[in-house]
Amino acid sequence: MPRCGLLCQYETSKLVRIQSVRLGSLKWSLNATILLFICIMLLWNRNYQEFELLVSSVTTKLKGVARVRLPGAEDSVWDAVDYSGPSQEKNSFFVVTNVIVTKNQKQGKCPEVPLRGRLCRSDADCEDGGWDHQTHGIQTGSCLKVGVLKKTCEVSAWCPVESRTKPPRPALLAAAENFTVLIKNNIRFPAFNFIRRNILPEMNDDYLKSCRRDKDKLCPIFRLGDVVREAGEKFSEMAVEGGVIGILIKWDCNLDRLMRRCRPAYSFRRLDEKESNRTLYPGLNFRFARYSTVDGVEQRTLYKAFGIRFDVLVFGQAGRFSLVQLVLYVGSTLSYYALTTVMIDWLIGTSCYSAEVGQNYSEKKVEAVADKQKCILCVSYVDERNIRLVKRSLKKSLQLVKPKSVEQRKEDSGHLRAAVCLLQPGHAPSHDPAHKHDPAPSHSPAHDPLHKPDPAHKPPYDPAHDSDPSHNPAQSPAPARRPAWCQCGGCASSPLPQEELCCRRGTGACVASSLPFERLVLQRPLLEAVLLYRDPLTPPPAGRGRTADLRRCAYAQYISWRFGVPPAGAHPAIPSCCVRRIRDEYPSPDGRYGGFRPAGTPSARAGANVELC
Ligand code: ZN
Ligand code: ZN
Repeated sequence: MPRCGLLCQYETSKLVRIQSVRLGSLKWSLNATILLFICIMLLWNRNYQEFELLVSSVTTKLKGVARVRLPGAEDSVWDAVDYSGPSQEKNSFFVVTNVIVTKNQKQGKCPEVPLRGRLCRSDADCEDGGWDHQTHGIQTGSCLKVGVLKKTCEVSAWCPVESRTKPPRPALLAAAENFTVLIKNNIRFPAFNFIRRNILPEMNDDYLKSCRRDKDKLCPIFRLGDVVREAGEKFSEMAVEGGVIGILIKWDCNLDRLMRRCRPAYSFRRLDEKESNRTLYPGLNFRFARYSTVDGVEQRTLYKAFGIRFDVLVFGQAGRFSLVQLVLYVGSTLSYYALTTVMIDWLIGTSCYSAEVGQNYSEKKVEAVADKQKCILCVSYVDERNIRLVKRSLKKSLQLVKPKSVEQRKEDSGHLRAAVCLLQPGHAPSHDPAHKHDPAPSHSPAHDPLHKPDPAHKPPYDPAHDSDPSHNPAQSPAPARRPAWCQCGGCASSPLPQEELCCRRGTGACVASSLPFERLVLQRPLLEAVLLYRDPLTPPPAGRGRTADLRRCAYAQYISWRFGVPPAGAHPAIPSCCVRRIRDEYPSPDGRYGGFRPAGTPSARAGANVELC
């Protein structure tokens, strides 16, 4: 394989396939539901189209005549010019529905209207030249009598001043209900170069003369009474004080050839605040005047007009097929399919689904990887039932490090059975094959399970000199140099703190001198049988390799015996006395041993403090 780093690599996620009819059909039904939803949304919202907002213009034509009876005057007939008010605003029209008329006003002096707050007692109450926003003119400084009891300040103004404040009820021009308005609305979508008006091509003059909104929703001629009614208001009520009504024209155009459609939809709504009308400045009104000259004197007729303003609001959009929009939409919906995974994963995790399958699934799906940086060792003392988990320290001896946690010992049942079998009286092997290094054949500690260690008959061992080929075992006596952390008297000092571990927590006999240790860990036929069991066909290596194999196998035997199944992620640590005993039994001819190999180093098959088989 060429070595070119990241450029020649492709990573993909690993999937777990569950063979299950239930989950399979659930997956496909969920996917089908999602696909259906996506398709419906695509067609409903026309997500395959690009859209553009419209540009519009509106003109209106108001028609109708009504007979008006003004107070103190003869009946008159008002036409569109009279009641549509003096001004035309953009996109809106006004209809006068009620009016207060003050006729024949001339420039002069007259008393102010006798209302609360404007009364006076003497001339001293009236300031010459004074005015405020309530008064009709500038005060002259005199206080005049109005009627029988009241007196008001005289003003210089258009006289007589407008005296009525409340609009007449019922409205004088309530007949405006029957007026009609023709709304002409031209729209344009510049990007699509598309023009349309609300008077559709098929509408001719006859149609426009006779059409009515209640029969044809596209009719562009509206009766004002219908407009106000559709906005949820009563015309006769609204006519008294006036208000604002919105005529909404919505265009939703589809410019695709197959589904071409572009028609207006009308709706109506009251735009001013109806509720606050009861309190402050209700309705809509304004004043205008008509001037005339009688005998060289200018006169005017003042109108305070109440009415309804109709605002025409046009909005809408046109859509046309766009491949880019379609691709974007499809791309954005792909993530919805992840919902299937989320949902089914959740379902498997909950108790709704079979707990067994869920457990199996999560075991297959999730692979736990321990943090190799942390080297956790497990320690088993012969005088303690539990196994301690200890973090490796480079300074403190392993015996003294405080445990991170304590775990229950998990028995290796196979090993236990074999051990029980071996300890049967008939199986007791002779010592000779296992103890070829034993200097004293008469020595029989096997009959005493935890006999006192007898360092004299063991070749002394000092790990500190392990790598020294010239090291002579006979020169290092053990008991005198028993390290402080050792409780059993069989351990040797070591330069590596992680090797400083005794077989006991409290002072007592050493496990390495017990009968089970002899039989389970050291006994040569047993170790040979284990090796043959593991590798039945390969002939055993001779000499040095053989001893190394046996030594490593003895370590493994010790671990199975003392730890059972070691806790996951932790590496069993073998006490110094036991290491020493095993090395004495199966020594390396050159005195070299692997020593401690922490987890994570490539050469280590396990992070024990000894070589393992
Ligand atoms: Zn010890
Ligand atoms: Zn010991």
